[in-house]
Amino acid sequence: RLKAENFTFQAEVNRMMKLIINSLYRNKDIFLRELISNASDALDKIRLLSLTDPSSLDATSDLSIRIKVDKDNHILHLFDTGIGMTKNDLVKNLGTIAKSGTAEFLSKMNENAQHQKELNDMIGQFGVGFYSAFLVADKVIVTSKHNEDEQHIWESDAASFSIVSDPRGPTLQRGTQVTLQLKEEAHDYADVNTLKNLVKKYSQFINFPIYIWTSKTVKEEVPLEEGEQEETKKEEKESTEDEDVEEATEEKEKPKTKTIEKTIWDWELLNDNKPIWTRKPNEISEEEYNKFYEALTKDYQSPLTKTHFNAEGEVSFKSLLFVPKVQPSDSFNKYGTITDNIKLYVRRVFITDEFSDLLPKYLNFLRGVVDSDDLPLNVSRETLQQHKLLKVIRKKLIRKALDMFKKLDPDTFKAFWKEYSTNIKLGMFEDPANRSRLAKLIRFQSSASTDGLTSLSEYVSRMKPKQDHIYYVAGATRTEVEKSPFVERLLKKGYEVLYLVEAIDEYAVSSLPEFEGKKFQNVAKEGFSLTQNKEKLEQIKSEYEPLTKWLSDVALKNQILKADISERLTDSPCALVAGMFGWTGNMERLAMANAH
Ligand code: ADP
Ligand code: MG
Repeated sequence: RLKAENFTFQAEVNRMMKLIINSLYRNKDIFLRELISNASDALDKIRLLSLTDPSSLDATSDLSIRIKVDKDNHILHLFDTGIGMTKNDLVKNLGTIAKSGTAEFLSKMNENAQHQKELNDMIGQFGVGFYSAFLVADKVIVTSKHNEDEQHIWESDAASFSIVSDPRGPTLQRGTQVTLQLKEEAHDYADVNTLKNLVKKYSQFINFPIYIWTSKTVKEEVPLEEGEQEETKKEEKESTEDEDVEEATEEKEKPKTKTIEKTIWDWELLNDNKPIWTRKPNEISEEEYNKFYEALTKDYQSPLTKTHFNAEGEVSFKSLLFVPKVQPSDSFNKYGTITDNIKLYVRRVFITDEFSDLLPKYLNFLRGVVDSDDLPLNVSRETLQQHKLLKVIRKKLIRKALDMFKKLDPDTFKAFWKEYSTNIKLGMFEDPANRSRLAKLIRFQSSASTDGLTSLSEYVSRMKPKQDHIYYVAGATRTEVEKSPFVERLLKKGYEVLYLVEAIDEYAVSSLPEFEGKKFQNVAKEGFSLTQNKEKLEQIKSEYEPLTKWLSDVALKNQILKADISERLTDSPCALVAGMFGWTGNMERLAMANAH
């Protein structure tokens, strides 16, 4: 007998297991979802590999997930014909946590440990993975056969693990078998019906067939054996006693067969593995979309909105995009890093969710799938990433997404804006090609609305007949800008002023040259005037020149650039104004904040 090698778990794994067991004990069901999702990932990997190396499927071309129970011994087996794990993979993948951000996640979990529900949601979204098997099992055995190694057995009781080369040789053609010795309180997971329900509930969108080994009772007509005739006849006579004559006469014919009940064992298919995005939108219910979204994102809240479309033309692809109700609180810290938000498929084959440029940064909150028939299958992921059609796909995805936002009803749009306004404003200077589309979505505070926001086209529709600029002022709060002396006169004259009170507002506007033919005018900038009475202004200017000169050169020397006569003020005696090409006070404040 081969000697097993013993290993200890990495410290993070121990913490993760503790966390899972302490916080998810009421939600044990998820272990099955996690194991099936791992099986599906492993199948994706071998299928992807087979595109460039067909021989990788030599051992078996079957790509499936199979569940089998041994009810009497409380054992559950999960088989997949995925990529499998070498001995090294077993040590590394099932003994350490390689996932980036895990340490951060663990510390967050400790901070928030008092909010049980929040905790569950967070863990759910994080994806607890393989170790959730220990929620239901006190012993887990993983047998795995990778094309490039012998079959190995990994075994653990959650305290430590061992690995041994399988003394039986290869029992699997390829892939992995996860065997769970169920805990007493989890014996129900060895029940076929329980498992069937769980698969239907959590794993219906897995793109590989999931089977369960189950028995059914069928009725079968079999020929009578000798000596059985008499007995059957008697039975039938009894049962037909009250029936009419016709049948009684028929009964005269001696039956040559009998019906028996037979138990047949077979694999029963549990999921409809036709991808949802390949189906017709009008044949998919809202509930199905929501369930797919939940399976895709592990977000327990249904999405805010979605778009499901079929793009044709230069490139044809299908796509299903969702807007989550909320975006993760750390999304701007991770802004621009690779996300797994969009899953790319080529002809239903999962390729990757790590393409960083399928969407621009500002749209990285979208979740969904893209499936194209036009991209090549038989190239590496790296080659595919360079493919020129991806640029076309990207362009169409952006258009479709912006379209989806534009078509939102007012209430949903409000919710959308509350959550994603910063993204859209960032888009204004990240995505010049779509600037005017984005400008239609943008909303600002305005002197014309006391609580709500206004769109730019609403502003334009309220403009005075001879007004040719969109007026705005930027500042830290609405109260501050409302009191600004620059605004006084405009408001008195009945003009509307936009209040740019979000840090990013002024940048967004500065990247927008005009809207519906109207230029933007910062009313706090030098050179802005309402009246055209130049003569009078010149007269006053020369009259007061001694004062302005004295202010500029003596009294406020080195503190201001120059003192000038203003026609913009009504009640306030003076105001500090930014130079025509200088920074406004607001932008200066932002720059200072960034520098610190
Ligand atoms: P994740 O799936 O998020 O990577 P898990 O804890 O679920 O994290 O799994 C850890 C790793 O173990 C996986 O990344 C994978 O490499 C490996 N693994 C788990 N289950 C299987 C399986 N059935 N076949 C092949 N590899 C697997
Ligand atoms: Mg996993």
